[in-house]
Amino acid sequence: MATRLRLTELIERAEIVARDVLRPNVEEEDREALWPEPGMRALAASGLMGLNAPVSAGGLGQGLEALVCMARVLARENASAALCYAMHCVGTAVIGAKASKVQQERFLEPIAAGEHITTLALSEPGSGAQFYFPETAVRPAPDGYVLDGVKSFVTNGGQADSYVISTAAADAAAGEGVFSVVLVGADSAGLSWGEPWQGFGMRGNSSRTVELEGVRVGSDSLLGREGDQLWYVFEVVTPYFLAAMAGTYLGIAEAAVDLAAEHLGSRRHSHTGDLLGANPILSSELGSMWIKLESTRQLVLYSARRADAAAADGLSGILACKAAATEAAVDLTNRAMTLVGGLGYRENSHLSRLLRDARAGHIMAPTTQVLETWLGRALLGMPLLQ
Ligand SMILES: Cc1cc2nc3c(=O)[nH]c(=O)nc-3n(C[C@H](O)[C@H](O)[C@H](O)COP(=O)(O)OP(=O)(O)OC[C@H]3O[C@@H](n4cnc5c(N)ncnc54)[C@H](O)[C@@H]3O)c2cc1C
Repeated sequence: MATRLRLTELIERAEIVARDVLRPNVEEEDREALWPEPGMRALAASGLMGLNAPVSAGGLGQGLEALVCMARVLARENASAALCYAMHCVGTAVIGAKASKVQQERFLEPIAAGEHITTLALSEPGSGAQFYFPETAVRPAPDGYVLDGVKSFVTNGGQADSYVISTAAADAAAGEGVFSVVLVGADSAGLSWGEPWQGFGMRGNSSRTVELEGVRVGSDSLLGREGDQLWYVFEVVTPYFLAAMAGTYLGIAEAAVDLAAEHLGSRRHSHTGDLLGANPILSSELGSMWIKLESTRQLVLYSARRADAAAADGLSGILACKAAATEAAVDLTNRAMTLVGGLGYRENSHLSRLLRDARAGHIMAPTTQVLETWLGRALLGMPLLQ
């Protein structure tokens, strides 16, 4: 009960930031492809940056349900800012899962204090959507490790204070799909950032490419121990990343259905004086959209709670969440645009931004078909990767 109340309070704080800071900045950030600095500052000032940091580090000690709820609330106003915050939270959860004392002091405590932003850098130009096959090399050096490789689409790229980077397994005997996770400070020598991010949608999040050339990190930069890699991938990286995405795309879908309802409930044709919503075809379409939205919302929230409780079906639900939320976001923004008509179809309309933002969900790996394949394999008791 205490946790529920606490989560309600956190959601209220996020709603205030979303309304007062994210909403007024979203158009400019989308137009100019700006990283949402005012929003990230406001989230820090509201004490929300340590959402998934352990209580022992001063964090809020929340899990997947809280991440879903926060991403959803923020994405209703500004999906790019939600993505930046959510990727920080995913990075935090990965660091916090088995943090050493040094990692706790250097990373988690500043994160909880709102003084440090982190983010997850998995994707690479070489393995693309199959981000679970990183080729970034990590080799032992006298005082730690040296990294060489390229990471692509790093959200919060060039803005974060640290990067949680996947590499080929530090343990040479590890099997396929097993990677190591290494923490790299933004001030490390050997990092070179590529061009600013200019997306079709999800424009305001600085999802950039970075080259790592002979980047030296200390021996305390490897997360967990040798042999922990599979545990990280399936117990932490996958559930937190998928929950973050599910919350973000759910928020976009909610905003689209709200806009459709607002239009049907306020637009009147002059020749009849009737509201558009009085047309049974249009009210039926809104009802059908709401059924899809509500089923997705319940699936996402229920699955996040099950996974937080380490239930046996936790992984299946979490795999389903991102697929369902992405599909709902793309479908519902598209249908909402039809209902809002010419106003929705205007260049740079609110709905056009939601539609562009939603479309990133189909690009962001693991993609829907991959998730459905994994889900089927999980239900059959098979390992996810063939
Ligand atoms: C806005 C945005 C933010 C992002 N943020 C991050 C981030 O913070 N961290 C991060 O690590 N990554 C991030 N990504 C990367 C993202 O998750 C994908 O990994 C990346 O976009 C894949 O790009 P690609 O063009 O190389 O895909 P490709 O590998 O070229 O794939 C192209 C398409 O082929 C299909 N495909 C590829 N492989 C398979 C397969 N095995 N089975 C079925 N279909 C397949 C998919 O439809 C895919 O979209 C972000 C991407 C975007 C767009």
